[in-house]
Amino acid sequence: MRPSQAATGTDLRAMTRETGWNFAGDAARWQAVVRRAREADGVFCYAVTTTGVYCRPSCASRRPRRENVRFYATCAAAEAAGFGPCKRCRPNALPAAPARCEAAKGAP
Ligand SMILES: [Zn+2]
Repeated sequence: MRPSQAATGTDLRAMTRETGWNFAGDAARWQAVVRRAREADGVFCYAVTTTGVYCRPSCASRRPRRENVRFYATCAAAEAAGFGPCKRCRPNALPAAPARCEAAKGAP
């Protein structure tokens, strides 16, 4: 109820959704994939060029090599690039990511 509450995991996720795009830059996105960051689910997805599928950041499948990974803001963008949804994490079953990307403007 109190907006000034310290950010816990759940709050961080809510905060991420509030700011829209908190994973600006491929380095930050890759870190989210490495950590299998659940708070990044729905914020972006990543596609693996060697398998032709795209995943949510927290996907439990084997982590791809960095050089084979491409990042997309939405599932639709990944599909437009020719990738299919991962059958394991079903990234396209997530609630739609916020369409707002303006938070990226604060990125270095
Ligand atoms: Zn997956």
